[in-house]
Amino acid sequence: MHILVTNDDGVNAPGLFALAQAMRQLGQVSVLAPDHNWSASGHSKTLHRPIRVKEVTLPDGTPALASDGAPSDCVALAILGLLPQPIDLVVSGINPYANLGHDLTYSGTVTAAMEAAVWGIPAMAISLDGTETSTEGVDYQPAASIAVQIARLILKYPLPPETLLNVNVPNLPLDQIKGYQITRLGLRIYRDELIRREDPRGKPYYWIGGDFPLGVPEKESDVGALTEGYISITPIKLDLTAHELIDTLKRWEWPNPAKRNS
Ligand code: MN
Repeated sequence: MHILVTNDDGVNAPGLFALAQAMRQLGQVSVLAPDHNWSASGHSKTLHRPIRVKEVTLPDGTPALASDGAPSDCVALAILGLLPQPIDLVVSGINPYANLGHDLTYSGTVTAAMEAAVWGIPAMAISLDGTETSTEGVDYQPAASIAVQIARLILKYPLPPETLLNVNVPNLPLDQIKGYQITRLGLRIYRDELIRREDPRGKPYYWIGGDFPLGVPEKESDVGALTEGYISITPIKLDLTAHELIDTLKRWEWPNPAKRNS
């Protein structure tokens, strides 16, 4: 069993270290993660510059690899042969903040797992529902042991192609977590604000600021499960087709493309 552990917070993140240590219960663990924080970088592929990889050590002295590519680049590099041994499972995290609903399109944690699914490797992304104010003193141990339980299940009940699991864990001690809930993606409420300022030369620049996003705690959604103190497990597929719209779109009056627009 060969498990690749990666993240989007960078190779020095405590959530990655906790996850790597826990995964060693299941087999051989390789760590290949970005050399800096790529949170909210989305699914990216670095094509127009070289990607460098360097050897680093984790706090327990075990070796790891850090690349200057995106989280999804790290997964691609590993799968495409940087790591000589085939990878059986990719686990991405533990992100200090939840990845819910529309967050998935932004999330480097989740898109690293998506990259694995592109290459047919089973994968999960795992995030802790941490508080906005501080990542100091966050306990990643509950989420790390939960990641091991879920990894065992993924290896026992293989996922279909082009799918992955998105996991969010309440920020609670294990004995206060109510259990697992299988969920759908819920709705985030983003409170982004455009902030316009001037640089010292008088030129405007922009910053996407605002408050931490909220969520709509609907039943059976990822947001709802976390709100009730459950671990949320959402099955995700790479097929983004809105299947329910196909018949509707077929009924639109599609013109001949060669017809002149009037
Ligand atoms: Mn992150």
